Amino acid sequence: AREEEAIKIDGLNVAQMKELREKGEKSEFQAEVSRMMKLIINSLYRNKEIFLRELISNSSDALDKIRFMSLTDKEVLGNNPELEIKIKVDKENRVLHITDTGIGMTKQDLIKNLGTIAKSGTNEFFKKMQESGEESKQASDLIGQFGVGFYSAFLVADRVVVTSKHNDDIQHIWQSDSIQFSVAEDPRGNTLGRGTTVSLYLKEEAQEYLEQETLKTIIKKYSQFINFNIYLWASKV
Ligand code: ADP
Ligand code: MG
Repeated sequence: AREEEAIKIDGLNVAQMKELREKGEKSEFQAEVSRMMKLIINSLYRNKEIFLRELISNSSDALDKIRFMSLTDKEVLGNNPELEIKIKVDKENRVLHITDTGIGMTKQDLIKNLGTIAKSGTNEFFKKMQESGEESKQASDLIGQFGVGFYSAFLVADRVVVTSKHNDDIQHIWQSDSIQFSVAEDPRGNTLGRGTTVSLYLKEEAQEYLEQETLKTIIKKYSQFINFNIYLWASKV
């Protein structure tokens, strides 16, 4: 697994990120979530690329929500009227960032939405997933349908950092190694304006997702019908 020492994001160094983990509010994942993550990892290891479809679909949902709200209240867009998705590769640090200007998450949203499964039918889902067995395609469809897509991030990442700014709260940073998670105020203040960045610290065996062409192919394959612009940025060399 990636060393803790490598975890930093723009404007926050390794020591600050560590401090946020230690000082932040720490929680274990709900048992169902841990079970779900294991199941996802075991059934989709040959179809890892779907993580990007799931994260883009979450961004698109978040953008739909703020757009819908803005129909009756233009104010919600504030100084950030652009509704878009940006994917940024940081080759040096081996991190893939997915940013949207969607509705964002409050601290409570981060804890609830990224730490528990609210939906009913979990047992049925587990049963179907187990039945799907070696059929990776079937498992991937099930994941999308049931909507536990976020956790597919751990197919390719050993650490996930989510930075989010919702209109009703200050910006927070959620971090997880898939065993535990922590949430803390972002000491940088509001850098997003509004929305969410999901930062994936890619596993050794998932370095291909730092390649522009690979990402482009996956986006075209799974996300061609997303209603928002998707920008793919490369890091400076
Ligand atoms: P689903 O999308 O079916 O609800 P997921 O596991 O993909 O299930 O996501 C869980 C929840 O986390 C979402 O319902 C949403 O509330 C929250 N979430 C995930 N990604 C984002 C994002 N980019 N912006 C805002 N909320 C998000
Ligand atoms: Mg989803």
